Amino acid sequence: MSRVIVIIGPPGAGKGTQARLLSEKYGYPQISTGDILREMAQAETTLGQEIRATLASGKLVSDEILAEVIRTRTARPDCKNGYILDGFPRTINQAHQLEELAERQEKEVLLVRAMVHQEVLFKRLTGRYTCPKCGEIYNVYFRPSKVEGICDQDGEPLKQRSDDNPESVLRRFEEYKTATAPLIEYYGQSGRLIEIDGEGKVEEIFEKLCSLIEGVISR
Ligand code: AMP
Repeated sequence: MSRVIVIIGPPGAGKGTQARLLSEKYGYPQISTGDILREMAQAETTLGQEIRATLASGKLVSDEILAEVIRTRTARPDCKNGYILDGFPRTINQAHQLEELAERQEKEVLLVRAMVHQEVLFKRLTGRYTCPKCGEIYNVYFRPSKVEGICDQDGEPLKQRSDDNPESVLRRFEEYKTATAPLIEYYGQSGRLIEIDGEGKVEEIFEKLCSLIEGVISR
């Protein structure tokens, strides 16, 4: 049976990084709702403006908009054999939407939860800067660029995400605790939940993650 792998975890837990590695290994597309929404936020339309404001504040975009985004994206042919969700579902309502969708698409949902301490998350997010030209990611605490604010590769000024300021980060943690954390219990009861420690070396986390996923799949 084809599969949907969902990565869940607080902002800064490394969902995007692990999702990308899983996508490379299993050949499933990585669907990041954050990336899709950031793209939609660039449109000079009422919807674009609305999404832009919501993202910058750190609040969640509405379940209605997300339902449409996910339905459209997962209908594309590259999702036929399975896909990886990074950032969806984030509410119980979205989890119900996903259950229905997966049933219709005849796919089994597997959930991976990445756990990281809040102090580490805070530094990962508020210290994160990206090069708009080459996409290289730096962190002022863990991986600073040689010259502050400038990309080592191409000398481009680095950019911070509009929601990586301390105020929006705290709001995102709050949204995670109230809206998203209840999903862990929801999926935990179904026996489809894999939990991993999200601190440490990316490659080591990934290796552990793959062996856990393969353990569940072969059951
Ligand atoms: P991310 O890139 O996953 O950290 O998401 C960035 C922002 O996009 C979040 O803080 C939300 O404002 C919005 N977002 C992403 N995924 C969802 C979702 N499933 N439901 C609601 N809002 C979302």
